[in-house]
Amino acid sequence: MALIVQKFGGSSVANAERVMNVARIITDTYKDGNSVVVVVSAQGDTTDDLIDKANEINPKASKREMDMLLTAGEQISISLLAMAIEKLGYPVISLLGWQAGFHTNSAYGSARISTIKTERLQNELDKKNIVIVAGFQGLNKYEDLTTLGRGGSDTSAVAIAAALHADRCQIYTDVTGVFTADPRKVENTQKLKDITYDEMLEFATLGAQVLNNRSVEMAKKYNVELEVLSSMVREPGTIVREVADMEKMLIRGVTKDTDIARISVVGMKDIPGNAFKMFSKLAAKGINIDVILQSVGRDGTKDISFTCAKSHADEAVEILNSIFAMEGAAVASDTTVAKVSIVGAGMQSHSGTASKMFGALYEAGINISMISTSEITISVLIDKELADKAVSAVHKAFFG
Ligand code: ADP
Ligand code: ASP
Ligand code: MG
Repeated sequence: MALIVQKFGGSSVANAERVMNVARIITDTYKDGNSVVVVVSAQGDTTDDLIDKANEINPKASKREMDMLLTAGEQISISLLAMAIEKLGYPVISLLGWQAGFHTNSAYGSARISTIKTERLQNELDKKNIVIVAGFQGLNKYEDLTTLGRGGSDTSAVAIAAALHADRCQIYTDVTGVFTADPRKVENTQKLKDITYDEMLEFATLGAQVLNNRSVEMAKKYNVELEVLSSMVREPGTIVREVADMEKMLIRGVTKDTDIARISVVGMKDIPGNAFKMFSKLAAKGINIDVILQSVGRDGTKDISFTCAKSHADEAVEILNSIFAMEGAAVASDTTVAKVSIVGAGMQSHSGTASKMFGALYEAGINISMISTSEITISVLIDKELADKAVSAVHKAFFG
């Protein structure tokens, strides 16, 4: 008998028919003699709809109240799924995040799991119950509800799998695995048999939303092997693990991130310490910086530009203005850019990967404004309107 954690995303439980379908997947697993813990997200677009409702009333609502609201989405889906399983005649119980022992820090809206107290979960499993847990939520030290950030149910599932030392952690979604690019947007994508934690972490961080990046980080830390598979088509998915079969693949995939901004500071004094001042102030506010470019400006000045999440752009501009406005430098934010990236450990041992990517962009007539690389990634900044075209062109160059 194995202990299996199964996570179902919003589209997998979007309506009554899909809830019943998921209930059957779960009960089939249980029927085979396994213990099953299920993590579920809010149905369909529920979380987005709740955010819209809040915005109608107060677009500047506190993060605490937003979390109070958003946790409601998962409360609906866990109870409905439990009712579906009751209907099929199996023992089941639904639990909110706090009932399942999820404790987090106090960062409303992007809380981190601190511990999972597994007594209740264990208790219910000992009673032979199928346990349905609300993803994306926990409780902080003030006994307030918190959420883990968008897409956070993946992390809830991995955390439970790690805490209970589960034998398997399956992430069910609306595609049959991790593909070489978003299969809904790009032609001729291929499903990956497997991918390493490091590759998947980069892929997710650079925009492939099929897995939340924090969930991959946690899976790597606790060595939880993940399987990404479809709740609609029953076929083997993609395995995320420490070592993966390279299948002679130069890269694993192509992705894009359109939720970014380019911030530039033009005409700062060319003296030591300016970059330090800039980036330490931004770091202190928790603003993550990505692609950085420094160039020579006019009359002994220099320009620095970098990218960050679009949601941080206004705050970044405010911080930089407070530092550089005095010396006459101009700070600007540009949200018409996108980052297109390729990911794959294979590029470490093959030369010519970058030139192949840049060649594909050149042939598609797409201009690159910034470039950044790591051991297993190459990213370029381009015009946002050309992002889909760029992903397709680069994908075609590598995967035909
Ligand atoms: P869930 O609701 O199950 O959490 P998500 O919408 O968060 O599902 O993630 C699944 C979606 O991720 C797919 O529908 C697909 O469009 C998108 N996606 C983006 N990049 C990839 C990729 N490389 N491989 C598979 N799916 C991808
Ligand atoms: N319901 C949450 C969201 O839409 C969590 C999740 O889907 O993982 O972001
Ligand atoms: Mg998701």
